Amino acid sequence: MVGDQAAQPSGSYSCQYILRAWEQPNGPHIVSTLLTAKRVNKVGNGKAYEMLSCLNGALEYYRTVGGDRQLLDACLNAWQDIVAKRLYLTGAASYGELFHDDYDLPNVANVGETCVTVTWLQFNAQLLRLTGEARFADQLEKVVLNQFLGAQRPDGTAWGYYVQMEGKKPYSDSLDGHCCLSSGPRGVALIPTFAASTDADGVVLNLYYAGTARLTLCDGTPVSLTTETRYPSDGRIRIVVNPTVPKTFAVKVRIPAWCRSASLAVNGNQLVAKPAADGYVALQRTWTAVIRSNSISRWSLAWLSAITTIRERLRSNTARSSFVPMSLS
Ligand SMILES: [Zn+2]
Repeated sequence: MVGDQAAQPSGSYSCQYILRAWEQPNGPHIVSTLLTAKRVNKVGNGKAYEMLSCLNGALEYYRTVGGDRQLLDACLNAWQDIVAKRLYLTGAASYGELFHDDYDLPNVANVGETCVTVTWLQFNAQLLRLTGEARFADQLEKVVLNQFLGAQRPDGTAWGYYVQMEGKKPYSDSLDGHCCLSSGPRGVALIPTFAASTDADGVVLNLYYAGTARLTLCDGTPVSLTTETRYPSDGRIRIVVNPTVPKTFAVKVRIPAWCRSASLAVNGNQLVAKPAADGYVALQRTWTAVIRSNSISRWSLAWLSAITTIRERLRSNTARSSFVPMSLS
């Protein structure tokens, strides 16, 4: 085996074979269609979870092996098309398991297969990891809070196949023909990987839930982030940043795109809460270990919610709005 081949991750050759096969005359032309038509419903038969699974594989290949930038561009086109024209208010992304025409979003027609919801989660998590842009975390928050967690029966023993806002949720705990029963738990396991993470500058907070994240900075320093909040029912968020040793690094906090007015303070000192182009406020400073419960390395983030209304094709007797980031119907 030649040297440059030996350096490639195992499995990359089969990936390259598959990518080439996509563009053969009898192939689905996934990348080329997304680069030209820029519409997911024009790719193959528009099967949502299959297409998103292919795109997730392409992004994994691009991230780990590298290669043609057009792979990423095709995926970004798909993301933009889905967000702009083919996404329900809850973050569900299909009915009858397919992507359909622009704004064709009926509320009762086998809406929101959970496999699609999970592959949409994976897709946004991949793009977030690749780009570090908060717009993908905004979508993750939306679909987790409004569609995904509601797809699981409250006692955790079953999942809905289709989960639409009208009618009874068809929970099932039998694997017989129920693909979504295997997808749902994989989506739950994925949430901690993007809720709080690290990058070259420090730590990144994407989702705001009460709890503690234990992370490791790039230089190996352990740091914990303890979040106290009732978000999203209350916009106040308090986070204790606690490295094991004093360390200079950035804590990046996502300011949701819907947030009109955010305020931010570190140890009681108000800071400018204007996000950078990537959607985050980066708090670069030397963080010291917490030594007393009311002492140092504390900051809180609060924002005001605003009601937004998203137009969809509504049934005559329904109204729907979004009390960001929650959907009400
Ligand atoms: Zn399924």
